[in-house]
Amino acid sequence: MSNDICQALKTVQERIIKAALNAGRLPAEVILIAVSKTFPASDIKMAYQAGCRQFGENYVQELESKTNELDMPNLIWHFIGPLQSNKTKVVAERAQWVHSVDRLKIAKRLSDQRPVDKDPLNICIQVNVSQEDSKSGCSIDELPDLAHLVDKLPNLKLRGLMCIPDPHAEEKELRKQFAILSHYLKLLKQQDLDLDVLSMGMSADIELAIAEGATHVRVGSAIFGARHYTGSLIQK
Ligand SMILES: *Cc1c(COP(=O)(O)O)cnc(C)c1O
Repeated sequence: MSNDICQALKTVQERIIKAALNAGRLPAEVILIAVSKTFPASDIKMAYQAGCRQFGENYVQELESKTNELDMPNLIWHFIGPLQSNKTKVVAERAQWVHSVDRLKIAKRLSDQRPVDKDPLNICIQVNVSQEDSKSGCSIDELPDLAHLVDKLPNLKLRGLMCIPDPHAEEKELRKQFAILSHYLKLLKQQDLDLDVLSMGMSADIELAIAEGATHVRVGSAIFGARHYTGSLIQK
């Protein structure tokens, strides 16, 4: 098992390097977040031993239990899942990043609850690039106002944008959705926001995302294997 994770991590890192070079970018511009949701702390330890420092979690309860269990130095936790306002406190206290902010209420709570002795919480606004009503993420229309308001909150540092494209999209459509996110990041930068992060690309599509400028790819199953959801996790 440990060899599996180690080998899979290497393969993903090689994909990132190749994709970056193909896009005329430096491989070091792309940060790998290992998405460890549903996997045990022991798997995170193996990935850590293989050199991984940044981990992504989707469920508040898992973030809580894993941060209780693991205390290796220089671990960076990214919260990437849907966030309800009654669950923001654990995230504000334990994560260094939140990629899934899609409304002001959540951002305000995270700012209020961020411990003052910690660095500002790094924030990405999740944008609904596929424009489907059912998906989470703010709409493109809401994005500029939301970005400027989040940027003013005291204990947060707005870093950039995140998207989860339509999982059924074909390659051409996927690439278009990544390009939309990239376009809006540029637009916001022209409006004097100091942003540097495009969080996009998952196991199946990191190459396309990197070609469109991804700075953070969030990779789960290509590192840890297939996920087996339990009923209790789905509800959280
Ligand atoms: C689960 C998840 C990922 C990782 O997905 P894989 O396809 O397993 O790489 C990335 N981002 C978010 C927001 C996720 O929920």
